[in-house]
Amino acid sequence: MQIKIKHITTETVSCSSCKACCCRLEVMIISETGVPKKYISFDKWGGETMLRLSDGWCAALDRETMMCTIYENRPWICREFEMGSYECVTQRAEVN
Ligand code: SF4
Ligand code: SF4
Repeated sequence: MQIKIKHITTETVSCSSCKACCCRLEVMIISETGVPKKYISFDKWGGETMLRLSDGWCAALDRETMMCTIYENRPWICREFEMGSYECVTQRAEVN
């Protein structure tokens, strides 16, 4: 039996049309994944976050392609941030 779908969302959430909105959030580094030191911001208590530049984006983001330049070594939080999740959609709505 063929089921007809009447309501298909034409605008789908995709990183490729997003300009990396989530890469403007504070990203805590909670485990060792091999992030190069030059991309890390250290606070006085020894906490580590991804360094953000004056434009607000993570220092490891390629400004031309809006792609992560340390994808294989990105922090766990970046790996866990799910495309299409509540946080993703909220962040897109704030920036776009
Ligand atoms: S995960 Fe969401 S907010 Fe982050 S780049 Fe992809 S679509 Fe944009
Ligand atoms: S490490 Fe990569 S994925 Fe994570 S915020 Fe920076 S550019 Fe985005």
